[in-house]
Amino acid sequence: MKEIDESKLILIDSNGIRTDGRRWNELRPLRIRVGILDRAEGSALVEMGKTKALATVYGPKEMFPKHMANPDRAILRAAYRMATFSVEERKKPQPSRRELELSKVIKEALEPAIMLHYYPRTVIEVYILILQADGGTRTAAINAASLALADAGIPMKGLVTAVAAGRVGDQVVLDLNDVEDKYGDADLPVAMIPATGEITLLQMDGTMSSDMFERALKLAIEGINIIYERQRDALKRRFLELKEKILGGEFYASRD
Ligand code: UDP
Repeated sequence: MKEIDESKLILIDSNGIRTDGRRWNELRPLRIRVGILDRAEGSALVEMGKTKALATVYGPKEMFPKHMANPDRAILRAAYRMATFSVEERKKPQPSRRELELSKVIKEALEPAIMLHYYPRTVIEVYILILQADGGTRTAAINAASLALADAGIPMKGLVTAVAAGRVGDQVVLDLNDVEDKYGDADLPVAMIPATGEITLLQMDGTMSSDMFERALKLAIEGINIIYERQRDALKRRFLELKEKILGGEFYASRD
């Protein structure tokens, strides 16, 4: 692994420019594609800078073993995994404690958005694979997972959208990359259902004054609103594509 000399590391230069050329309030380049896998019921790929998260959804399907089913609602299962090649030093294929914890955090961030009571006794499975990690994988995972759920036609109150804000010295910054996450002073991942204003994830690593916390939260919500518009555009593109396919007869079995 490349050693970084922390004493020489400048996260924000004298012109206010960050290591990847952004200003404090800028998101990384965002790329979103929905419905990219034919076999999954829903899928989405979200790229936030160099971080790439692929999410797939299966279900709702009957819950096995049956005694684990909930008679009142569907059970949401979420699995977050990092590909062995997603980080600089090969990631062991066995699920780590971090992956198990993030799976739980992501499930809890998505659950409030889903109309689980529509599907009693069933299970909805969300599987997220981080193809490349450069900071903010949990937020990219949530953005991709909520799109994959929408692509699978699962009724929701709204999409869930996430981004981190943080602190580098006395500056708040948006959408931290890996170096900022590791060598910055604080990281505040936030997920929200923009349609209702509910915050479904709020974590913090590091330290911030209460004034800075408020500024960082406001900045994260501004970022979320931008990402949300992009998620909606990507979904609209997907539905237009499907409409064209249906009108073109691609989904009808041939009578010959
Ligand atoms: N990371 C890594 N190896 C690991 C886990 C994480 O290199 O086994 C890097 C990766 O770039 C990740 C970053 O550390 O995005 C920050 O990880 P954290 O646990 O804070 O979660 P994230 O910010 O990705 O949600």
